Amino acid sequence: MKIAAAGIAIECATFSPLPSELADFDVLRGDALRPHYPFAASYPDVDFAPIMQAHAVPGGVLRRSVYDALKAEILAGLSAAEPWDGVYLDMHGAMAVDGIDDAEADFISAVRELVGPDALISASYDLHGNLSGAIMEQLDIISAYRTAPHEDALETRARAFDLLNQCLHAGKRPVKAFVPIPLLLSGERTMTIVEPGKSVYAEIEKVIDGESVLDASLLVGFTWADQARSQAAAVALGMDEEATWRAARWLAAAYWDARHDFNFGVPTGSTDECINMALESEASTVFLSDSGDNVTGGGAGDVPYVLERLLAHRVPKTLYASLADAAAVDACFTAGTGASLSLSLGGKLDPVHGNPLSVDGTVKTLHQNASGTRQVILNVDNVDVILSERRLAFTTLAQFSELGIDPLAYRVVCLKLGYLFPDFQAIAPEAIMALSPGAINALPETLPFHKIQRPMHPFDREFDWSP
Ligand SMILES: [Zn+2]
Repeated sequence: MKIAAAGIAIECATFSPLPSELADFDVLRGDALRPHYPFAASYPDVDFAPIMQAHAVPGGVLRRSVYDALKAEILAGLSAAEPWDGVYLDMHGAMAVDGIDDAEADFISAVRELVGPDALISASYDLHGNLSGAIMEQLDIISAYRTAPHEDALETRARAFDLLNQCLHAGKRPVKAFVPIPLLLSGERTMTIVEPGKSVYAEIEKVIDGESVLDASLLVGFTWADQARSQAAAVALGMDEEATWRAARWLAAAYWDARHDFNFGVPTGSTDECINMALESEASTVFLSDSGDNVTGGGAGDVPYVLERLLAHRVPKTLYASLADAAAVDACFTAGTGASLSLSLGGKLDPVHGNPLSVDGTVKTLHQNASGTRQVILNVDNVDVILSERRLAFTTLAQFSELGIDPLAYRVVCLKLGYLFPDFQAIAPEAIMALSPGAINALPETLPFHKIQRPMHPFDREFDWSP
């Protein structure tokens, strides 16, 4: 049995003024991709052929020429080794391309056209992906993450691959039940580690029986994309039509019924309110999210507003991670460790939400990470500011240890994130989320949406719906 693997995975915030470029992607081809799919080795009858997968840091709308080139390379790879029994697509699900709102539908339809109607296509998605009828028409199988913060990326890929194998072996296409839900809540309000997300997501495994219902997913969708398909969805796959639809409707209802109970899992407020909360806190370290410029949601990562406020409040012993500013990194590398210099930080990639901030600082550390990105620790008054030449989100402790930093040695750790990622959840004595300015506004219902379906909760409050 011959199965290909390919994909383009990016989350695009259409409210970001900064287009996503080829440089934002890590592109792996052929055998270099095999370590990403270790599960494939346990299917001895499968001739597994990874073609190309491009994975990007979340950002703004993807440039058309970049998308066209990535798509063309994947199609050429598939075309060169036809025919295929199955194709596994390693996706995110919230890609937006210049002139193509439903970019996944465009990509998946092109794959379908090439491999023909008989091949089975299975995709793995982030639960922050947006589905559509056009996507569901072309896919045979889809499975999405069940955790946010995400801890089951590999597990989800393995499940999508296994479902593909099961169906190929059985020689059957599963029934697909797709229930769009008029609900569009941000990832920060729908974490699966706190209620009600925890209980709603626990329903998924309960509706799967491995026979009549093979799999089910609940996607909360991606809020920061003004597109007709942006909304939550429940999906079930199975061999029994009635049971499969019942499962999808059950999940959709469970999510809908809990809609009023979703909230931020941590205290929130304006940037100044949150800095005051941090100053008054008795916790040894407070993790402060600069959520408006959340790079993992597609923020530019160079809005220096919260840094400006931290300096203005003279917050003691603070770590600020991070600002993307290639010119400032250049200047620091030229000046050398220990040098003092005046810099204009940030406000260049996203000039809509931030202005460059003038600071006088001292270069503490110069570093080049494993992927070649140069980083600097610049000390400005009480704040150690990490500068990066590429847009970057700090999501793991390893990224700090590489720089010789222990976040818990600081009084305040400010991160360009929304919710904290698992490494930080595990150690944070206290977490606060600032509703700061940026493209990833934590209250999306205040943003100018034009294309989403209406009514849509929480944009519209008083309406009834049932799956
Ligand atoms: Zn996600």
